[in-house]
Amino acid sequence: MESNHLPAFPCDNLTADDNGHLRFAGHDAAALAEKYGTPLYLLDEARIRRNCRTYLDAFKAYYPAGSLPLYASKANACKQLYRIMAEEGMGVDVVSIGEIYTAKKAGFDLSKAFFHGNNKTDFDIAFAMDNGVGTFVADNEEELAAIEREAAQRNLRQTVLLRITPGIDTHTYEAVNTGKVDSKFGNAIATGQAEAITRLALSLPHVELRGFHCHVGSQVFAEDVFERAAVIMIDFMADLRDTRGFTAGVLNLGGGYGVRYVESDPHLDIKEKIGSVSEALKAQCEKRRFPVPVMHMEPGRSIIADAGLTLYTVGAVKRIPGYKNYVSIDGGMTDNPRFALYRSAYTCVAATKLNEPCTLPASLVGRCCESGDIIQEDVVFPASIRRGDLVAVCTTGAYNYAMSSNYNRIPRPATVMLREDGSDYVAVERETLDDLTNLDV
Ligand SMILES: *Cc1c(COP(=O)(O)O)cnc(C)c1O
Repeated sequence: MESNHLPAFPCDNLTADDNGHLRFAGHDAAALAEKYGTPLYLLDEARIRRNCRTYLDAFKAYYPAGSLPLYASKANACKQLYRIMAEEGMGVDVVSIGEIYTAKKAGFDLSKAFFHGNNKTDFDIAFAMDNGVGTFVADNEEELAAIEREAAQRNLRQTVLLRITPGIDTHTYEAVNTGKVDSKFGNAIATGQAEAITRLALSLPHVELRGFHCHVGSQVFAEDVFERAAVIMIDFMADLRDTRGFTAGVLNLGGGYGVRYVESDPHLDIKEKIGSVSEALKAQCEKRRFPVPVMHMEPGRSIIADAGLTLYTVGAVKRIPGYKNYVSIDGGMTDNPRFALYRSAYTCVAATKLNEPCTLPASLVGRCCESGDIIQEDVVFPASIRRGDLVAVCTTGAYNYAMSSNYNRIPRPATVMLREDGSDYVAVERETLDDLTNLDV
């Protein structure tokens, strides 16, 4: 037996067969590339459902009746994903009228949708109300005033949570760190603005203030971030009860749990994490004699990231002696801009050469006319890698398709859903050249 050259996979839905072919969710990657072409997004349906159930079970075990995890659909939105969320009994978090419209077209019950965003326009607010979005998470006072106006016109009372900035530094990448006092999102407790917007909300006749929301960041592994957020929020809510006589019944702690992109990333046990947050929360409620609120969280990445994989075909392999090597693929920052944006780590493998030793260090780059079009630096590939080979980038379910673009007029890849029984189906069709010119006059 040859020595084991297998790469360290970040998730157990990735395996290798005897021929050195990658299998994802039990499916042969090369066969899928052959059937659908590349670049290609794959989603492991069973994994998505399992990730949802982890949250649903934990919420049932630890939180009061009515508590519900919400899928943060900005991580990856298409009709089929909203259908899966409906089937699993998840709520959703939406951040635009595009997401609301997609959920509606999928038949998702919008009373279980929470509408986010730091700058909802009057049109957005009207659209969300007319389509029965259940809860607005209001970000600022101007928005609250606009919600009041639109609700008054419709003669309804809109259920609202207020977005609060608890003042927590998650020590993640700056662009995904959202809980600090100087964030563009929310209202800081520290500056008194959180209390001020609460007073305003309570004074508005067409606003039904139910509680509060905070979201501290994304790809968070730090030990006690959500526990601290829960304690700070319960203190804030208990203070409001004491000073204003308002007892909020709902607390939404946002999303943000980290996932494994590379072997060195930790593995979070989500059920255990939620158990620990609920303990901190209940202890603080006990201390302040405050009733345990109905709870929400908004996982995006930890629902969908490890259910995703992207397949590419290798084009040019460029060796610059004494400098560096490049492996180019038929996609790039158009289908995965995360390295360009955040220098995000990924596990990248030659998907049909898993039994060959990896000795060629190279940058994995895309096809866009842009030097920053990099998927990953310092990947080590088999020395034989060449035009026509298949490369897989793992853990791409979150913020890949959702952040994709048509830069360089490159059509977006299809998304193919993989079932546990070995069958597959298209969830999002590949864009055509006509899709690219359809809006041109
Ligand atoms: C982005 C975001 C989420 C989801 O974060 P993940 O890191 O993907 O879990 C949840 N809530 C809000 C308000 C967000 O902005």
